[in-house]
Amino acid sequence: MKSVKAAAAIYWNPLVETLPLERLRELQVKKFRRIVKWAYERSRFHRKLYQEAGFKPGDIKSYQDISKVPKVEKSMMRDIQRKDPFPYGDALCVPLEEVTEFRQTSGTTGLPVYQPDTWQDWEWWAESWAYLLYAQGYRNTDRVFIPFGYNIFVAFWAGHYAAEKIGCEVVPGGVLDTEARVLKIQELQATAMMATPTYVLGMADTARKKLGIDPARDLTIRKITCAGEPGASIPSTKKRMEEAWGAKVFDHVGATEIGAWGFECAAQSGGLHVNEALFLVQLEDPETGEIIEEPGRRGKVVITALDRIAQPCIRFDSKDVVEWARDPCPCGRSFRLLKGGVVGRADDITKIKGVLVAPSAIEEVVRSIRGLSNEFEIVVTKKGDLDDVTLKIELLPEAEGSREPILTQVKDQLRLKTNLGYNIEIHPFQSLPRYEVKAKRFKDLRKQG
Ligand SMILES: [Zn+2]
Repeated sequence: MKSVKAAAAIYWNPLVETLPLERLRELQVKKFRRIVKWAYERSRFHRKLYQEAGFKPGDIKSYQDISKVPKVEKSMMRDIQRKDPFPYGDALCVPLEEVTEFRQTSGTTGLPVYQPDTWQDWEWWAESWAYLLYAQGYRNTDRVFIPFGYNIFVAFWAGHYAAEKIGCEVVPGGVLDTEARVLKIQELQATAMMATPTYVLGMADTARKKLGIDPARDLTIRKITCAGEPGASIPSTKKRMEEAWGAKVFDHVGATEIGAWGFECAAQSGGLHVNEALFLVQLEDPETGEIIEEPGRRGKVVITALDRIAQPCIRFDSKDVVEWARDPCPCGRSFRLLKGGVVGRADDITKIKGVLVAPSAIEEVVRSIRGLSNEFEIVVTKKGDLDDVTLKIELLPEAEGSREPILTQVKDQLRLKTNLGYNIEIHPFQSLPRYEVKAKRFKDLRKQG
């Protein structure tokens, strides 16, 4: 049994993060019932959805009953917005005057969804991030630099407030360009930062090439929290970032419509904890709809934000593909662990030549091979009736002499990890597209004919 003092040194909320599993489930069911009742009574959208399914909030008696509640798809959220009150629509559960935050999704898969939050919701956002930053070792001795264009996307906004809540000193790196950000980090001796994996790698490149600064040697960043892309849970990408910065790199997962629902802890055990104090996650078999409780079987996340009130997120089909880990995390948290983080999105995991492929598996191969740059592109097309997949990579100038062995290595590793053959194109260094924040490296052109 850990002493209270020792627990307080590890966990943001020592009580709830170490609750016995049964107690944690009880807490979740109690909160779930509360948020469903809240939505049923206040949101026209939810009431209609539930009534049409013949469901009433009182029907939830146990953990198993949760699956009876109808799911919400992202496409429904877009329809909601066409209704009153403007601009959020009829899932809004509070008077408009109580809304204090506007955010929207990036709309990469269609029209953006607008997300209202009350002040209470905003405090909840900061609280959810406080769990994850504290678990990754952020303390009041840290000076946290946030190289993020503060805007309508929620991204690292809540990370900013959570770092303050923990007591860190926060430096907002807003409209500065990359070089200015690197110089500010150096001048202030910042100890931690938050960014997408694409930006973490790009920033290190800029520092080395444009400023002659080696982040691992010349800067003092020792913790980096990633979001927005799966990279920090892909071992070879994580390794590249950790080596470039001489820092520990941690993953976290969240979404505008859901919240910050999962995080990697300081133990770095190869998975993400679900924050089960604030969220209820179920894994669903995409074909049968069966709830998956056992480890080692992939399913998609159906998730509820248990305390978010303005526009509730109840049984939302997140399309994130995950699996439960077999072993508990050595950190001692009761929160369950997802093996390897989010493995992919149900939208991105696609059948190529009849084989299921996640773009993250290809990224893992490319980033594990020395001599290749961080950039790559995957293009799937159709030749007649057959799928054709091309992987574009860049050779670093210093690896020019080992072109052939590297090519063989890429081919062998890809076949081993994805069971597929690829056309491989080696492009000149720095000729593939660069991305500032979120990268779009997977292009499926089959549907365009
Ligand atoms: Zn852990």
